[in-house]
Amino acid sequence: MLAQYHSVQADTVATDIVIIGAGPAGLALANLLRGTGVRCVVLERQSRHYVENRARAGLLEYRAVEALRRHGLADRLLELGAPHGVCEFRIDGKRFTLPYSDLYEGRTHYVYPQQELVKDLIAAFVDSGGDIRFEAKDVAPHDIAGPNPSVTWTDADGEQHRLGCEFIAGCDGFRGVSRSSIPAGGIREFSHQPGIAWLGVLAEVPPSTEHVIYSLHPKGFAGHMLRSPTISRFFLQCPADDSAAAWPDERVWAELHERFAVPGSDWALTEGRIIEKGVVDMRGHVTEPMAYGRLYLLGDAAHVITPVGAKGMNLALHDAEVLAGALVQHYQGDDSGLAGYSETCLRRVWRCQEFSQWMTTAIHGTGDTFGDRTARIRLENLFSSATSAAWFAENYVGLM
Ligand SMILES: Cc1cc2nc3c(=O)[nH]c(=O)nc-3n(C[C@H](O)[C@H](O)[C@H](O)COP(=O)(O)OP(=O)(O)OC[C@H]3O[C@@H](n4cnc5c(N)ncnc54)[C@H](O)[C@@H]3O)c2cc1C
Repeated sequence: MLAQYHSVQADTVATDIVIIGAGPAGLALANLLRGTGVRCVVLERQSRHYVENRARAGLLEYRAVEALRRHGLADRLLELGAPHGVCEFRIDGKRFTLPYSDLYEGRTHYVYPQQELVKDLIAAFVDSGGDIRFEAKDVAPHDIAGPNPSVTWTDADGEQHRLGCEFIAGCDGFRGVSRSSIPAGGIREFSHQPGIAWLGVLAEVPPSTEHVIYSLHPKGFAGHMLRSPTISRFFLQCPADDSAAAWPDERVWAELHERFAVPGSDWALTEGRIIEKGVVDMRGHVTEPMAYGRLYLLGDAAHVITPVGAKGMNLALHDAEVLAGALVQHYQGDDSGLAGYSETCLRRVWRCQEFSQWMTTAIHGTGDTFGDRTARIRLENLFSSATSAAWFAENYVGLM
């Protein structure tokens, strides 16, 4: 294995892979490389405490859980997470449930908060001697087009470091340094902005439902997502230029009550203390290819997707699995995995983008325009056509 040491101050070690970012993508990659003989160092801008408590996604696809289980990374997830195989749509005040797991060979999601998975992945890596440098500031990749890339950063004590490596894995999210270090013309970027936003709300309250609720209402969409027995996630459609400041807690609960209402039913929404509020970007974005020279992009650094279909974290884990396999192959003398990394990942990314875009259109229309009406019919087809329902189930619970 090639390992280059570059002299600035500091590190006397070099490594095979520098992973930038300790989110689901970077941590999964680091763990999947454990025990393979491929060495890596993870650089994370934030503190360990910060990343272990950053609440984001919460639905893991069946395929992702199986992959984590195969690598011994799913013990706590299987103990504390909950399988999930039914979702509910509320359309014009009527309830429709879809048992998608039954329609897809019994495969389920797992409800498990992203920050819990991050905790598990950090513990598994660090406990087995893995090297994560938290609070790494000013991380910068260098010489990514040539055979001897390196990464520089400043540690919490203000010391500067440079680490030589053979490959860099850019796992630093949509606003990280990896993608932006690629020279102009090195990649193509595709973006779609649906012209709406969601107010994301995290509340200290047990869920008022056993399954995810997608509610269509003339005032806009409302979503009730599951996180844990004591924490629930809610979403409210809002204008793309809205801000959380315009949503005091009383307004949030009033809108949620109104948009979830089912006339004539005894269903009730339980209120609790709101612990986080923010406007969620609903853009879709894809980078092609997902690599440039010795830099490989994973997860949100390569693609972002609306949270509608709960795909972001799952795509990040899939990218990590594909790249880990390709890197191990590389060190066995076979570069076909690295050559095909981008194409393999992008096939899944675009299928998920298509599904999420379909869901976005279907659940946000008010039913008042031509396009809204066709989208509404397609949604209603899920409850009248077994073929439509099976298509939804396969895409929602995740491609194998
Ligand atoms: C605010 C927010 C809310 C979300 N909510 C949902 C949701 O409700 N449902 C859903 O399905 N999906 C949600 N998502 C999407 C999902 O969480 C992401 O798709 C997932 O986190 C992607 O994982 P990742 O590892 O690629 O990136 P991230 O989780 O973003 O991890 C990137 C890591 O890189 C670090 N980093 C960034 N820049 C640097 C740098 N310069 N140097 C070193 N480290 C750096 C970051 O601190 C972070 O730890 C949300 C995303 C965001 C941003």
